[in-house]
Amino acid sequence: MGGIRALNMDVSFDRQHIWHPYTDMAHPDPVFPVVGAQGCLIELEDGRQLIDGMSSWWTAIHGYNHPQLNAALIQQADKMSHVMFGGLTHEPAIRLAQQLVDITDNTLQHVFFADSGSVAVEVALKMAAQLAFARGQTSKDKFVTFRKGYHGDTFGAMSVCDPIDGMHQAFAPLLNKHIFLDSPHSGFNRPLLDEDIQPFKDVLQRRHEEIIAVIFEPVVQNAGGMNIYAPEYLRQVRALCDQYQIPLIFDEIATGFGRTGKLFAYQHAGVAPDILCLGKALTGGMMTLSAVVCRSDVALGIESRFMHGPTYMANPLACAVASASIDLLHSYDWQSEIQRIEKQLCLGLEPCRVLTPVKDVRVLGSIGVVELHQSIDLNTLPSFFVEKGVWIRPFRNLIYLMPPYVINDEQLHVLCTAIQQAIEEVLC
Ligand code: PMP
Repeated sequence: MGGIRALNMDVSFDRQHIWHPYTDMAHPDPVFPVVGAQGCLIELEDGRQLIDGMSSWWTAIHGYNHPQLNAALIQQADKMSHVMFGGLTHEPAIRLAQQLVDITDNTLQHVFFADSGSVAVEVALKMAAQLAFARGQTSKDKFVTFRKGYHGDTFGAMSVCDPIDGMHQAFAPLLNKHIFLDSPHSGFNRPLLDEDIQPFKDVLQRRHEEIIAVIFEPVVQNAGGMNIYAPEYLRQVRALCDQYQIPLIFDEIATGFGRTGKLFAYQHAGVAPDILCLGKALTGGMMTLSAVVCRSDVALGIESRFMHGPTYMANPLACAVASASIDLLHSYDWQSEIQRIEKQLCLGLEPCRVLTPVKDVRVLGSIGVVELHQSIDLNTLPSFFVEKGVWIRPFRNLIYLMPPYVINDEQLHVLCTAIQQAIEEVLC
């Protein structure tokens, strides 16, 4: 990766013809052409290198261009890139499923491979629904979830995302109506108040006959508001779900694979879900793959064929890379790295707390969040960050960091300083 070069990427074609995430095609946001990525650095076409604070939407936990992940991909491609999973099976799927069963403490025994996080959520909701119908609970038609939740962009997933502040208001008339409770607002280390759990208790007591399942993001609500809350909440919810025999779905698509300091965020609470959604960091940021892992009483309780089966189910390339990513995680003391990052994020972001536009600063594991009073202009701030040599992409009123676990202290310092400068120079 080197100095300034001549530009030859046709970005104007991109702007005219290619949709980027959540973009107005008539007024597209600026995009920066990238030619490479290595470790924690993203290289732009003009030669500039950006320190990555996003892990490419929380996926690239080992950094970019990792030799072990590349090798796993190439070795698998040499043998077979894909075969259909209907009627056939293969070593990469079996090995990855064994690893997933193993790292979920053997409580979750059955693995469904899907294409993306959103599809994993669809699969989890459908599993719970088919289970309810198999139990003869045919009048059940509601999921319970929390405000500030985000579970994906497909229809089922959208219907359990925050209905007001979420990104899917445009589709509101088309979405099934589910039950939304206020998001837990006790902070991570705070004791849970009775009033936090009481609405959940009331809803289960009054409406359990309508409820198919409960779904939410354990400990950290991510794209819906970066809310970090007390693990005790999970213990209470688990007990209530058991009492009313309602399956509990944890969406760990964003939090899984170490991000919060535990391999899975639910392990902060010492309770397990009935159904677990995994995605994002599953492949270490190399390609899309998700998995839904569930207990035997869910899988076997469906008592018939489970009606989902994507074309690229258990793609061998993605499974091989995911296995290598899990091996990589096991090969070093990632917990200490997350603790180190947590300490640096606390130190580096704390000075933002006193700045006028800042409402809150919170950190858990390798997640650092600065919440502002006002929403941010997405046309100016990313360019400011690029000028400072960092890649940080805020949303709504949130500037946050979720860097690769291999980031060093100096790079973290540059990221945190850039956030402080953005608030002081652009937002104050
Ligand atoms: N669930 C959670 C918790 C997520 O954070 C996301 C993505 N941000 C999704 C589901 C959807 O995943 P995907 O974008 O891979 O469909």
